[in-house]
Amino acid sequence: DVEAGLWIALEQRQFVLHYQPQVAADGAVLGVEALVRWHHPVRGLVPPGVFLNAAIDTGLIRSMDEWVLREACRQVKAWEKAGLPAISISANVSNSLFHGRTLPTTVADALRDSGLNPAQLELELTESIAMRDVEASVTMLEGLRTMGVRLSIDDFGTGYSSLSYLQRFPLSRLKIDQSFVRDLLTNENNVKITRAIIAMAHSLNLSVLAEGVETEGQLAKLREEGCDEVQGYLFSRPVCAEDFEKLLKGDADARTAA
Ligand code: C2E
Ligand code: MG
Ligand code: MG
Repeated sequence: DVEAGLWIALEQRQFVLHYQPQVAADGAVLGVEALVRWHHPVRGLVPPGVFLNAAIDTGLIRSMDEWVLREACRQVKAWEKAGLPAISISANVSNSLFHGRTLPTTVADALRDSGLNPAQLELELTESIAMRDVEASVTMLEGLRTMGVRLSIDDFGTGYSSLSYLQRFPLSRLKIDQSFVRDLLTNENNVKITRAIIAMAHSLNLSVLAEGVETEGQLAKLREEGCDEVQGYLFSRPVCAEDFEKLLKGDADARTAA
């Protein structure tokens, strides 16, 4: 079953990271999100939607996320050492890692062992994680911020946020959930919500990234609304390290030529 298989996966290094570019309004690749997959010997590449709940139930999620953080830092520094542009890397943080005790040391170790500049690491947490125990979250986020790491809220707009706490969190950006982006061109309410999120974020000095951008029309609309960055299939699906390296090299060459 999935649960038993997961511990074997961790032991036998069957988890792999895929990478999806985060792109500025002008098209430059500024960062990348690390997304975990389970490379199962028989089932092939298994997406996180299939095994995350089991990973949470078994408590394996924390060890998995710690591995993700270390591997993400190592990989992005390796690209930099190979002469590719220094970009930032975002890693998703689970509730159990965020509200556990090991996160600050895991982050410190990942940064030290990789030699990555802390400003290049971003941790993504959802509203529900951040709002679970707000005082503890403020303390944790301030500690991480002091280390120089950037922090963002993932899937923004789908959870419950206390705006008074949101402004107390030392965040760098909000990621607008893909559900608002999906029918941006056909649903005027989603335009209004997107516009409101962008205005609120900017007035709190946060940047805004829209998730799940699949079409040129969505991109144009988001630009028009002043969205700072985008991520989605329009630019690239999440791809393996080797393919992302090619993508990054192509982007760097295009910019040198321009
Ligand atoms: P997320 O962090 O919001 O990541 C974005 C998800 O949307 C990814 O799914 C990505 O493949 C997908 N996506 C990106 N662009 C598009 C698009 O244009 N259209 C559509 N339809 N989808 C797009 P993925 O990789 O299956 O991950 C699902 C979720 O699993 C993530 O949502 C995140 O919450 C969680 N997750 C992924 N990796 C990790 C991890 O290492 N640790 C933890 N704790 N959670 C993770
Ligand atoms: Mg994310
Ligand atoms: Mg998201």
